[in-house]
Amino acid sequence: MAVLKILKFPNPILLRRSRVVEIVRPEDRELLDSMLETMRFNQGIGLAAPQVGISKRIIVIDIGRGPIELINPVINKRAGSEKWEEGCLSLSGITLKIKRAKRIGYKGLDREGRLVEAEAEGLLARAIQHEIDHLDGRLLIYYANPIKRIYLKRILLKSSCL
Ligand code: ZN
Repeated sequence: MAVLKILKFPNPILLRRSRVVEIVRPEDRELLDSMLETMRFNQGIGLAAPQVGISKRIIVIDIGRGPIELINPVINKRAGSEKWEEGCLSLSGITLKIKRAKRIGYKGLDREGRLVEAEAEGLLARAIQHEIDHLDGRLLIYYANPIKRIYLKRILLKSSCL
């Protein structure tokens, strides 16, 4: 277990689609442990593997009700919508109001490779949608209109040069 370095925009790994985990191996379980440690160290409520430089479909979330670990997560149900302010550990210094589904159904594998299927709403649903976005290389700034996106990129590039 270790606290890993979190990649920041515009690192290309953050903009890439991550690959499916075919078989859950010990190294993936180790990665899950380190991701949880890294997330807690940075006081985040979620983290996706590409944020620590690993292009695999693995996410961790903890909104204060205990850790959730998901490998190859997919959303199979969406209901309602809600707009809420979001930040991201890979995008220091910016927050954006993002419209997302209020309730979702999701599935994925746990650390033993067993199928997990559940439903979530509110903050947990939002966190899962945010982290799955990372696996598709989609960052918060993707949701901004083109003019705001240019402005936000400028802020991010400035902060990454410090
Ligand atoms: Zn994020």
